[in-house]
Amino acid sequence: QLVRRRTDELEQANARLKELSIKDGLTGIFNRRHFEELAQTEYQRSFRDKNWLSIAMLDVDHFKGINDRYGHEVGDGALIEIARVLDAEIRENDLCGRWGGEEFLILLPETGDKAAGLVMERVRNAVERLTIRVQDESVYMTVSIGVAEHRKESSYSDTISRADHALLVAKRGGRNQLSTATD
Ligand code: GH3
Ligand code: MG
Ligand code: MG
Repeated sequence: QLVRRRTDELEQANARLKELSIKDGLTGIFNRRHFEELAQTEYQRSFRDKNWLSIAMLDVDHFKGINDRYGHEVGDGALIEIARVLDAEIRENDLCGRWGGEEFLILLPETGDKAAGLVMERVRNAVERLTIRVQDESVYMTVSIGVAEHRKESSYSDTISRADHALLVAKRGGRNQLSTATD
């Protein structure tokens, strides 16, 4: 009886440790390290099966203003809400991770940039519709998104930097918009 209880406790502790090592502490979505690990596997699979794959990079617009105006705790709550929206809007096989700060990554297996653009446009829309209540004020946020399709012979980090560059184009274009890498 006692041995069984100790075993259960150990199993629970192990499960907690595992969760801590793969999930972002604030938002509960995959942390960067684990996202990268999964992404590498997806990359190899897409290479082997000659499948499409797209990556989207998201950055919350003017997020510093939320912290400055409402405080860091409200900012934290806002990131949790955004992560929840991302998780809800993406499809079953898409992967979602926190890249760092107010930046998120989504990997869309077996998806070309046109289809990825449609999914991510839906995500952008859902964030735009999100309302956060702070006392009796409503706070709204938007995200800018860069999408890049995996190209033959290009590496994972190539695709990431093309998505990053597309994100910059979306920011320069006025934010709250999606841009797709064309190179
Ligand atoms: P832009 O539209 O150009 O992206 O503007 P921005 O204000 O979102 O960009 P900037 O890089 O200037 O600021 C990002 C802010 O995100 C600054 C940083 O304090 C905040 N931030 C990063 N991580 C966290 C976090 O975990 N919690 C909170 N509350 N804020 C965070
Ligand atoms: Mg940023
Ligand atoms: Mg930002």
